[in-house]
Amino acid sequence: MRSYVWTLGGGFCLVLPAFALGGSGAWWLPRSVALEAPREPLQWCSVPPTAVLERRPSAIRWRPYNVLRYELFLDWVQLMARTGVGAADRVFRGLNRITLRVDSPGIQQLAFDAAAMSIDSVAVNGIPVAASQPVGDSITVQLPFSVAAGDTVVVEIAYTSRTGRNLGLYLYPKGQFVGLGPGGDSVFVEERIAYTMSEPEDARYWMPCNDAPHDKALATLSVAVPESVSVASNGWLDTVMQLPSTVPGVRAVWVYRWTDTVPIPTYLMVVHASRYAHIADEYVRPDGSRVPLLYYVWSSDVESSDTTGRRYNARYAFRNVPQMMRAYESFFGRYPFVKYGMAAVQPFAYGGMEHQTMTTVNRSWLRGMAELGIAHELAHQWLGNLVSCATWNDIWLNEGGATWSEALWLEWLFGAEAYQQRMERARTDYLEQRPTVMQLPLYAPPRSLIFFYATTYAKAAWVYHMMRRMVGDSLFFPALRAYLARHRFGSAETEDLLASLQADIPNPPVPWRTFFDQWVYAAGHPVLEILPSVSPLPNGRYWVRCLVRQTQSGSAVPAVFVMPWVLKFRGSDGSYAEHRFVSTAREQLVEVELPFFPSSVQLNAEDVLCEYTVAPVSVAPATQPRAVQLRVVPQPVQGEGVLEFQLPEAGSVKLEVVTLTGASRVLYQGFLSAGVYHFPLRMESSAAGVYAVRLWMDTQPAASVVFQWSP
Ligand SMILES: [Zn+2]
Repeated sequence: MRSYVWTLGGGFCLVLPAFALGGSGAWWLPRSVALEAPREPLQWCSVPPTAVLERRPSAIRWRPYNVLRYELFLDWVQLMARTGVGAADRVFRGLNRITLRVDSPGIQQLAFDAAAMSIDSVAVNGIPVAASQPVGDSITVQLPFSVAAGDTVVVEIAYTSRTGRNLGLYLYPKGQFVGLGPGGDSVFVEERIAYTMSEPEDARYWMPCNDAPHDKALATLSVAVPESVSVASNGWLDTVMQLPSTVPGVRAVWVYRWTDTVPIPTYLMVVHASRYAHIADEYVRPDGSRVPLLYYVWSSDVESSDTTGRRYNARYAFRNVPQMMRAYESFFGRYPFVKYGMAAVQPFAYGGMEHQTMTTVNRSWLRGMAELGIAHELAHQWLGNLVSCATWNDIWLNEGGATWSEALWLEWLFGAEAYQQRMERARTDYLEQRPTVMQLPLYAPPRSLIFFYATTYAKAAWVYHMMRRMVGDSLFFPALRAYLARHRFGSAETEDLLASLQADIPNPPVPWRTFFDQWVYAAGHPVLEILPSVSPLPNGRYWVRCLVRQTQSGSAVPAVFVMPWVLKFRGSDGSYAEHRFVSTAREQLVEVELPFFPSSVQLNAEDVLCEYTVAPVSVAPATQPRAVQLRVVPQPVQGEGVLEFQLPEAGSVKLEVVTLTGASRVLYQGFLSAGVYHFPLRMESSAAGVYAVRLWMDTQPAASVVFQWSP
């Protein structure tokens, strides 16, 4: 038996795969024991960084223009004045004035997303053009003049929305029975309510637009409603204008104008209209600056002082928001918007929706039992809104970030144990769906599963958690803030986060490319079997050999997860030792010398989304492992490398190059006598990346070494 333990600074080690050999003799290699190693500063010895590989192709579907501004006007006077919710009651008229920059020369028409509406008129830079009707869920506007790249064009589209049902726009009548509350009470719609809910692609049902998350624009939303109806929306409430009414039964019309001072994607735009009561609060920063907090709830929801969850009590439910903002500013940086708000709606198919600066919450959250939901939506203002997923393939960036942030809020409030408890619940949520999660990569889930909780939320939260644990807080949080700053008020694909981490944390224990390939672009998680055996040594210490097997399976699941791990050894007298290693093979021997007999062996599963079992510790007689020394020079290999190895005895030898997914290519096979060998390592036909060389002796794997090929 033999092992490779490279001892680097701080007593941390990289253990490479090693395999048993029978017989006796040969010599020992240096090995080390790390006792009670501190988590920081970062001292992991690393797998050689992956060569810079080409960026995966972008999945953004560009149109030949970029929207700069939406000026949307919605006439909801009749919509809110009626009492029914039939198809005719849902009809409303709108006007969207879209200012855009042309990105491609020579285009003659512009396509917009628009569905379930009739187009009443269209003008381009004030010139009326034909109003073509939606085909499928888009419309085409013919340009009445030629345009050049960089030109600014203003397209005004007047339309009548006719969804006929709850789709994009949701409308409920006063008095509708919603269901039974948690106390068995009957819940009704308190006031007529209309609201929009667009994620991922339903904004097109209530306004013509470029309904794609990468195309953010400034926006002004003006909404006309009967007097005494409130409108809650994104950004800043500029004005509320009163106009005379021409609608029978409506004494006056109020027009609310909300303005976004920073870009917003269409899926984060929202309008809520109902007879709302308003609650004002504020977050006061340590430097004295303030963020206004505005809440819109039904008046019955501010009357109770109940804190048991039996009654709606908005003030109680929202009481911790200022503290949450302080917590999240400490993790993510300054809150980036002019205000924050929440509007309660009911019925609502979801718990909450992080509409930019005006989250929609399910009224059931006002019973005070949904604090993590409130924290989740607030965290989205950074992870999702400040930087949005650029495509729906990247939705894990949003939802993983916000779900992980629930744990951050608990950590800020109660400490590390509460954080871990929330992560453990996410692990359970994920593992309970094993048959599905082992097939479903985080990146680019099928459209029907983009909001599948087990992966898009729970596993994705673990990806953030694992990145944090892998490099430590002192590196991870500054890098996360740098990523948010780089893409501030824009959007990001998965590859953008990867590139940002590569730039800011260039030497992680596992190359970022490898980490993302395993955890984001592939499915599943490591399933480990650990078989420990202990041999007493003549010096009174113990030689511990742990065979670590990765047994995960599935066509989309990596055969090998390359990850940093910590083995934790405990003795019956309370002794404790840790040993760190990076897994690089499906089957790997980790060896360590301990000053005590380890009666229990555990893995740091709190840091890695995994399942593992440990066989009972077996006791084996002490044997002197014979070792084959093997190394690759130089590192990284450029052009031709050299494979150096020393055989302690003669035997039948096979040398092969293995990819991290297990594919192999034989370099040499034949009988060799004991001695030192230098073997040319030619990789011209291989892609850049991390590989291993494996040496077999007499049909037994005897040694392997990882190297980086960087052509
Ligand atoms: Zn979310």
